[in-house]
Amino acid sequence: MDFKYLADLLFPNVTMTRDELEAKYPARELGEGAIVSRMAPSPTGFVHLGNLVQGITSERMTHQSNGTLFLRVEDTDAKREVKGAVEVLIDSLKHYGIEFDEGETADGDVGAYGPYRQSKRADIYHVFAKELVEQGMAYPCFCSEEELADIRARQEAEKANFGYFGKWAIWRDRSIEDIEAAIAEGKKWVLRFRSSGNIENKIKFTDLIKGKLELTENDMDHVLLKSDGIPTYHFAHAVDDHLMRTTHVVRGDEWLPSLPFHVQLFTALGFKLPKYLHIGPLMKMDGTSKRKLSKRKDPELALTYYKEEGFPVESVYEYVMTILNSNFEDWRRANQTADISTFPFSYKKMNPAGSLFDYAKLLDVSKNVISRMDAETVCDLFTAWAKEFDAPLYDVFAADRDKAVKIFSIGRGGKKPRKDIGRWCDVKAYAGFFYDEFFAVTDSYPEQFAADDIKACLEGFKETYDAADDQNLWFDKIKAVADKCGFASDMKAYKADPTPYKGSVADVSMFLRVAITGSMNSPDMYSVMSILGRDKIFERIDDMIAKL
Ligand code: GLU
Repeated sequence: MDFKYLADLLFPNVTMTRDELEAKYPARELGEGAIVSRMAPSPTGFVHLGNLVQGITSERMTHQSNGTLFLRVEDTDAKREVKGAVEVLIDSLKHYGIEFDEGETADGDVGAYGPYRQSKRADIYHVFAKELVEQGMAYPCFCSEEELADIRARQEAEKANFGYFGKWAIWRDRSIEDIEAAIAEGKKWVLRFRSSGNIENKIKFTDLIKGKLELTENDMDHVLLKSDGIPTYHFAHAVDDHLMRTTHVVRGDEWLPSLPFHVQLFTALGFKLPKYLHIGPLMKMDGTSKRKLSKRKDPELALTYYKEEGFPVESVYEYVMTILNSNFEDWRRANQTADISTFPFSYKKMNPAGSLFDYAKLLDVSKNVISRMDAETVCDLFTAWAKEFDAPLYDVFAADRDKAVKIFSIGRGGKKPRKDIGRWCDVKAYAGFFYDEFFAVTDSYPEQFAADDIKACLEGFKETYDAADDQNLWFDKIKAVADKCGFASDMKAYKADPTPYKGSVADVSMFLRVAITGSMNSPDMYSVMSILGRDKIFERIDDMIAKL
């Protein structure tokens, strides 16, 4: 067969040459050890935690090594494309501090290795496709859907492996006359790779996350170009990552089974193979077993979820770091206030099997992150969240910023800051009571206490309370109320023998807490009272007395 003739027949309009392309996209000038990587999402509009995991990995690897991170849009599947999806993706990643040095942007391409949208690269793919045909490494296949279905049915009957390979690859060795006749008939064709692999053979491969692997060779004549001339992922991956001079491909491990084919393709095309990092899936516990996070079942897979719940960006980022690098938590303990960008991220600390997503852990990490923020920052982040997701709450907090900052100052600073808030959506339950609009008595007094005793304590408190008292005097006065009303002010004595008492000073405090905050759990009462002020405290105590 005259492959040159076939190549011209299939690609009459290809005028560019490989050499021109190689010259147009020269090897990058990189410093020692600099990594070039990319994100190559399909614009489906759904940005998920997996994108963030991959994004953070490539971002850290490239930027820590003074390399380059670029964004390539893999829009070869027009059916799946959602309008505006690229903007959503860029914005979501930017929100998490992942910024690209080059690639597709909302305003077009930035960088010398574009176009960065695969749909604009057809001419480039065709140069290499033509070259493969010339070398006898690719051929057109005119099979219709029905013929492919028929091959599959026969494979099933014979209990053979499925797919287009070996004797089943009916266009692999067809004559030029057959091909010309099919073209003359106007039949559509796809371009297939002529595989010389054998499934009896293994290839050895080292993945930077998975380690040493032995994979079965590929014997399938996979499709390189679809009938509309648009490449498949595999072919575009080889051509793009070569010409864009990617040094490290970071992607989900669902691509691992395709790797033997990719190795074949790079070899056939005469390209140097990049290094690969295949990231394991994000899993979660479902009962006692693990399963992959699913778009359908798990709202927490979507990145928008974290924004809606009010997880600060830092919290999600920090949590992802704990699942990505096994040594991150130790580092954080030793460097509590350090900027996370100074953490030496390493792919060597990644779990080859994938990571377990644990919501409770995320919440915990977030409480720590928020506890390290100052009150002003907490106030800013919270109000920005509330403005978007809880307008009534926003209205009251934003109306008096000084008060809001005071509220968020409670228990903050010092060696052991309080860890009450993990998500901005928790603020309502934690501090809503500061505002009458959100104040409600939700806890009731335990039945063991007589209404008259509670009343006496509340009245007693009102008689001596002075907003000017410092915390010690304030508490001494509560103790005095306890003594006066038959409650123990000395906890030790009470614990040794509670029988002579109606309760203890802790119960007296609880009476006040429920009356003033509506609940048995609240931020520090001295601070709460200073913020609410005498009139509001007395008003709520009086309301409670009236109800008892
Ligand atoms: N478009 C592919 C995907 O969405 C990209 C995989 C890769 O990074 O090479 O999975």
